[in-house]
Amino acid sequence: MLDISDPTDLDGLRQFLRQEDPGKRLASLDLLGMEISDTAHLRVLEAVQASLARAGKSGRASIVMLTDKTTIQRQGQRLSHLVEGQIKGSHDIRTVALDDGHATLHADEKTLDAAAAAVVGADLIVTIGSGTMTDVGKVATSRSGGLPQVAVQTAASVDGFTDNVSVVLRNGVKRTIPSSWPAVVLADVVTIGEAPRELNTSGFGEAISLFTAPADWYLSNLLGLDNTFHPASMALLKAAAAEPPTWSGGVASGEAEAIRKLTRLLALRGIVSGVSNTTACLSGVEHVISHMLDLHHAAHHQAIGLHGAQVGVASLVASKLWRRAIETDLIKPEKLKKPDPDAMQRRITQAFGHLDKTGSIAAECWSDGQKKLTLVEKNWSRFVEVTKTWATHCVEFGKMVQPAETLRPALVASGSPATFGALKPSISPELARWAVKNCHLMRNRFNLADLLDMMGLWTDELIDWAMKDVMP
Ligand SMILES: [Zn+2]
Repeated sequence: MLDISDPTDLDGLRQFLRQEDPGKRLASLDLLGMEISDTAHLRVLEAVQASLARAGKSGRASIVMLTDKTTIQRQGQRLSHLVEGQIKGSHDIRTVALDDGHATLHADEKTLDAAAAAVVGADLIVTIGSGTMTDVGKVATSRSGGLPQVAVQTAASVDGFTDNVSVVLRNGVKRTIPSSWPAVVLADVVTIGEAPRELNTSGFGEAISLFTAPADWYLSNLLGLDNTFHPASMALLKAAAAEPPTWSGGVASGEAEAIRKLTRLLALRGIVSGVSNTTACLSGVEHVISHMLDLHHAAHHQAIGLHGAQVGVASLVASKLWRRAIETDLIKPEKLKKPDPDAMQRRITQAFGHLDKTGSIAAECWSDGQKKLTLVEKNWSRFVEVTKTWATHCVEFGKMVQPAETLRPALVASGSPATFGALKPSISPELARWAVKNCHLMRNRFNLADLLDMMGLWTDELIDWAMKDVMP
């Protein structure tokens, strides 16, 4: 039987998507290969040949290998040498180590230009590295008219190895932009297990938002606010979330089985958001709390924390809120009230006004807020309907959200921070409360916090209750 939670069975996934998406609303899954094993690093030449063949290129090819200045080792051997050794007999290979002067590479315009310039004239790109390096390669691939890319994954830090977008820095702010699917992703679990500890542990923090975020996406769809929703994508997410992530012990120490499962979960996440043409399917309350922390840090010219680590802690808050909305009679139709635009604008100014002298951050949040209010107004009858029939939807929500009692021990076992205070930089109780309390005022995406707010339920009491266990 087809296992749709297996990201390495790409033909199986394509077959499933063909069946479940006859109208072809989803993007095509253009990954040619995805291998997760303890010998994946030895498949580079094979991946290169298959990718060149798909691109219609035969004979000796010109290959550019992009790395950053980090030397990545695999059991004492330099990974780039292991990769080069496989290719150089059959093709011409040139290695370009990108160095923008930062301790870790930044995917800013300068780096992206350097990568695009480095691959001019090449037939194929090999990238060796973690999320940023792979994302830079994907942009170079797309700017060069779709050169095939073979990505050698060296950490299980993010889910962006297996999708068609890249996270880049624009004027110091992280943005997700369209790029290209890599042709082949090779994830060697031994190399990944040797990656810096916090890369893999924060990857686990990111991964557990799989157990909260889809509910926000589903809610948004029920209310008529998000037309990216697709049942096939949701089926994939539910299949991946069917088993709670109780295997995370061993992520920090790089144990093969935990690393394999983490890499697999992240790869499936990437594939689902790639084919869904949106990150909304995996970005709910927990993500916007993390974005709030980033916004605060950027406005104060402080270092930005690891995305996945922040998302992991915030997922525990999201889970508590969601389970309470599912398991109790919190949501009652008679509580629903249309938001007052003037009051909303005042709250946004109050929440974000202090972040910059010009007030432009608050203005941007209010601009997004107005879009959301317009959508709410337009779909008001659905709000009435969904809150009236809340209990029936809870059956579905229940399949999408794992309780914090399951997620917390898994997060603790993974070695990723499980409180705001344990994050780096450490988040004070005041900042954490600000981030949670105002998270729904930041962007135009709708989530459970918006609904609770519209029902007069977004109180200090509820927020303190939801945050009780994640405070320092
Ligand atoms: Zn994320």
